[in-house]
Amino acid sequence: MSVIKVMDELLSNKIAAGEVVERCASVVKELVENSIDASSTEIKVYLEDSGTKSIEVIDNGKGMDKDDAVLAFSRHATSKIKDEDDLYRLDTLGFRGEALASIASVSKVNLKTCEGDIGTHVIINGGKIIEVSKGDSRKGTSIKVSELFYNTPARLKHMKSLYTELSSITDYMNKLALSHPNIRFILKNNDNVILRTDGRGNLLKVIQSIYGNDVVRKMVSVHAENDDYEIDGYITLPEVHRSSRNNMVTIVNGRVVRNQDINRTINEAYHSYKPDNRYPITVLNISVDPSVIDVNIHPTKMDIKFSKMDSLLDLIRIMVISKISSKNLIPKAFLKEEKPKEEKPIYIEQYIKLDSNESKVEEIDLPDEEIMINDDFSIVSDEEEYKTEKLMPQMYPVGLVHGTYIILENENGMYLMDLHAAKERCNYEKFKYEMGKPIVASTPMLFPITIELSNSDYILLKKHLNLLTDLKFKVEEFGINSIVVKEHPTWLPTKNLEDSIRTIIDVIIREKEFSIEKFNEKVATMMSCKHAVRANTHLTQEDMEALVEDLRKCKNPFNCPHGRPTTVFYSKYDLEKLFKRSGFDTKK
Ligand code: ZN
Ligand code: ZN
Repeated sequence: MSVIKVMDELLSNKIAAGEVVERCASVVKELVENSIDASSTEIKVYLEDSGTKSIEVIDNGKGMDKDDAVLAFSRHATSKIKDEDDLYRLDTLGFRGEALASIASVSKVNLKTCEGDIGTHVIINGGKIIEVSKGDSRKGTSIKVSELFYNTPARLKHMKSLYTELSSITDYMNKLALSHPNIRFILKNNDNVILRTDGRGNLLKVIQSIYGNDVVRKMVSVHAENDDYEIDGYITLPEVHRSSRNNMVTIVNGRVVRNQDINRTINEAYHSYKPDNRYPITVLNISVDPSVIDVNIHPTKMDIKFSKMDSLLDLIRIMVISKISSKNLIPKAFLKEEKPKEEKPIYIEQYIKLDSNESKVEEIDLPDEEIMINDDFSIVSDEEEYKTEKLMPQMYPVGLVHGTYIILENENGMYLMDLHAAKERCNYEKFKYEMGKPIVASTPMLFPITIELSNSDYILLKKHLNLLTDLKFKVEEFGINSIVVKEHPTWLPTKNLEDSIRTIIDVIIREKEFSIEKFNEKVATMMSCKHAVRANTHLTQEDMEALVEDLRKCKNPFNCPHGRPTTVFYSKYDLEKLFKRSGFDTKK
């Protein structure tokens, strides 16, 4: 090759590097996916300073011979992608070949690889091969990429903070581990182990090594299938939620993908069981005929579309709803140090014994039968078939604290109930029920209420006046920028009526665009709060008993409509422990 041609190639590699290799995480992704392609069962990723100093990936895969080892760094070594169609098939990882050349052009690469006999050692600096020699005979490949972007200072400046680089690498490795429970992964940064999985194929153990014991103990298994899809996985009980959607992982035919609709559907299925702006931790494995999928491949993204999307979303929605709506979801007040075995945990179907130290990196050694989820959940075909029995146990009020919390008891222990949250939930379900009736009754008002608005608000309200009439308010225009309300829906309590109407009008004015369902939902939630008891209320024993019975009749007695818990539980054991009675002679 002429000097000029070599220069050309180096240059185009550098340019390509800017597109494909954006961050340390892109290098890790590239190298680790090569290791997966090489059928490795163990992949170790060692970083120095979050990968900015060096990234080393060591696998036990099939390795390369000398020719392939050199060829791997040439720009057109697209051995994995033979034609354009390959790009769109999900079982092809795509974008290799070129990426390795690009990485090598902006870093120093040290490669050792061996197919089992004589190994090969290749050293490349800034895309130039410095040395090709005999290496050791350990089967597999180890590749170390150092000083990324050392020869492209402009790129180097774009590197994010060490923390950001490390967190995106960790995030990527977590997802890879979740989608490959049969591969043993180790991720280290400067000798700190960040992730270690055992590669024994148990998804729940992988989840445990990522999220820790507390989360795993609050996960339930899910399964559902229809003609097109089969779904398996784990979801957290509603009390466990995070601020980011990032912990909702969807794996399709073994690959982690992204799909907004799936995430939204899962999140909506949890609606009113948890705050809407918080997200569950979920790992769903979806198996599907590849012809149903449309993957939009970009080296850094994995967006996916399905041709039978509605069928998938319905399946997911019903699967999640029926799972969480059939559980006793009262959170325990004390979460750590469960008493093992003999005391049955109140809502955890799978019970995982803890080793007392919380360290994620500990070798997980749980007998497989303990980690097995023992519910044989089969999906109901019709939402109407959901259980209607009471999910919340019988409990008896003992007293009221600060006019805010009811203390209750039963044979299992003690409960604290948030008066406002409980009442809010009862109101909410009552209002929703009344609003959903085919004919909503309205009550004429003895004293019609006039509401005056600013000119701009009045315009907005007039545009959506149908929302008020749909709710069964009878409204007429009344002078300048005013309306008069003459009838209200019967379900709306007459107390503080004007305040309620103003609140509803505020929702109409403030909301930019909405569906009737979302509007009704919002009205029901706001009204349930307005008409729930405030703190510092006096309640008689009968009032409390009636409230508890009302709450137990609710479809979801465990959360207020905003997703806060109504009730927490202190088991007898928790109480004994609190007073150091456990382990002692409790008669003393
Ligand atoms: Zn409230
Ligand atoms: Zn609330």
